Amino acid sequence: MIIKDAVCPFCGCLCDDIEVTVDDGKIVAVDNACTLGNHKFLGDHRLPGPIRRDGDTWKDIRYDEAVEYAVDMLLEADRPLLYGWSGTHGEAQCVGVHMAELLRGVIDNTSSVCHGPSILAIQEVGHPGCTLGQVKNRADLLIYWGCNPIDAHPRHLSRYTRYADGFFLENAFRDRKVIVVDVRKTETTNLADEFVQIQPGADYAVLSALRAIARGKGDALPRTVGGVPREQLVRIVDLCKKAKFGAVYFGLGLTMTRGKYKNIRNAIELVDELSRHTKFTISAMRGHYNVYGSNEVNTWMTGYPFGIDFSRGIAFYNPGETTAVDILARKECDACLIVASDPGAHFPRACIKHLADIPVVQIDPYANATTAFCDVQIPVAVTGIDAEGTAYRMDGVPIRTRKVLSTGYPSDEEILGRIYARIQEVRQP
Ligand code: SF4
Repeated sequence: MIIKDAVCPFCGCLCDDIEVTVDDGKIVAVDNACTLGNHKFLGDHRLPGPIRRDGDTWKDIRYDEAVEYAVDMLLEADRPLLYGWSGTHGEAQCVGVHMAELLRGVIDNTSSVCHGPSILAIQEVGHPGCTLGQVKNRADLLIYWGCNPIDAHPRHLSRYTRYADGFFLENAFRDRKVIVVDVRKTETTNLADEFVQIQPGADYAVLSALRAIARGKGDALPRTVGGVPREQLVRIVDLCKKAKFGAVYFGLGLTMTRGKYKNIRNAIELVDELSRHTKFTISAMRGHYNVYGSNEVNTWMTGYPFGIDFSRGIAFYNPGETTAVDILARKECDACLIVASDPGAHFPRACIKHLADIPVVQIDPYANATTAFCDVQIPVAVTGIDAEGTAYRMDGVPIRTRKVLSTGYPSDEEILGRIYARIQEVRQP
């Protein structure tokens, strides 16, 4: 059986043109996906069932027991943390928010350690963004800043930018200009018409210089800014002003370097400035396939995109205080439910150390670095493969992911729904 137009559940591009061949209950071939997407569909090292730590070893348990363990852990905790969410679909994220509110806990998603600063900047100055479709059909100038889509979002260039012909661009490769700004050469810089190599940590200064040139104040600049010659900066601004439609895409190389959210604010203000001359937009290269959805769901349910603390009985948000890394580093939380993410692979050592000291339940199909310190792991279906649901693409477009396979694993939504229902029985009898 061939399933057409399946959605790849790996990165924020959410490519929706994947063809999956299923034979004898197994995926045997995947067409149109990149290497990362292929690996996601074809890789299969899932845990066969829930496991519970037993001294230095693990023992198999039933789903009922695993759910009961999670319920008891959350009900007994004074300050539970519910973390992750970017690798699951919106329906499961909704259950998570309801659960956090009922428990008076904290719910945070992975954007607090990736594009959180981008969101803070957007909260301050707005987001002049657009859909990937608009970029594909209209943009004749692309700027990739602090990101390497060839490695992280491989089909971004082939579906929407460098190689994608659009309604107003019949020969995209010839008619689109691509500028890449980075601190080093990458696979993506090799494809650029113009590579701007800046010194590490100089993004804010270079953005300010570009803004000054766009405003006609470039004469006051020194001969180089952040390692970039003034002539090159003038040439970049010239290219931008001559473009009919420009699009900036930025990654963690801009968001998580010195300046953090101020960098993004400056980049948005550069786009504002360029929009006085032509049409310009800016968007983040979101990583996990539904990390954008976790921000959307949290925002429309609580008013805040991540790091939401319900301990006061209302939603409270203060990044740096109510975000997972900060709560863990202060050893504040006394139990943690981790859903569809792997903090064991990404969090600072002090946070991992605290997680190892408190009860932790992980809901995830695969054994990963977090498995090393969790007490119970509950394997679930993979959204977009053996479960369907809603995910938001990196441009904020919600897409229904399809189920292409039946495996018998429960979905995240189902397991979370069971945990939530049991908590409701106790807290809202
Ligand atoms: Fe999947 Fe991203 Fe590759 Fe598209 S670009 S196939 S969404 S991993």
